[in-house]
Amino acid sequence: MLTARHKLCRMPDAKRSPVMTGGCQCGELRYALASEPTEPSICHCRMCQKAFGNYFAPLAEVPLNELSWTRGTPGVFRSSEAVERGFCRDCGTPLFYRVLGKDRISVSLGSLDEPRSVEPVIQYGVESRVFALEELAALPEETTEEGTTPELLARMVMSHQHADRD
Ligand SMILES: [Zn+2]
Ligand SMILES: [Zn+2]
Repeated sequence: MLTARHKLCRMPDAKRSPVMTGGCQCGELRYALASEPTEPSICHCRMCQKAFGNYFAPLAEVPLNELSWTRGTPGVFRSSEAVERGFCRDCGTPLFYRVLGKDRISVSLGSLDEPRSVEPVIQYGVESRVFALEELAALPEETTEEGTTPELLARMVMSHQHADRD
C-alpha cells in the first residue's frame, strides 16, 4: 500500500522502502517492490495457463531494478526463446514473468501480500480463453467455511502457508 510516508521518501533506487511486498506460499521466497506495479493484466494465453496451472495469469510489471528478492532465489524456467518465468522450487508458486532483454519484470498478482491493491485493467491472450469470466462469475458461490466440514477446517487452520508479511 502506498502511504504518505512512502511518497515522501522516494529515492532513485530499489533500496528505498518497498511500496509492496509478496512471496510464495511456503515463505522461502520473499520480494519487495520499490514502485507500484503498472499495466496490471490477466493473460489467458496457453503458456500462462500451464505456468500457473490456471485458466489465466494475473501479472503487473515494475522496472527490473525495482524488484528485489529479500529472501531466497527463485527457480527459473525459460518457457520460450523470449520469456523466462520464476517460481518457488519448494512450493511451486509462480512468481514472475519476464521478456528477456527487457528492463521490466512482471510479478504474479496473487503472490502479493495485498492482492486487492492492484486491479487488472486489460486481458491478453484471449484467443486461448477457456471460459468467459461472466460464466465463472455466474457459478453458485460458497465460502470456504460453508464448503468444508468443521474437522477438515480445523486441520486447514494449522496451515503451512507463510503469513502475508515479512
Ligand atoms: Zn515457496
Ligand atoms: Zn500469457
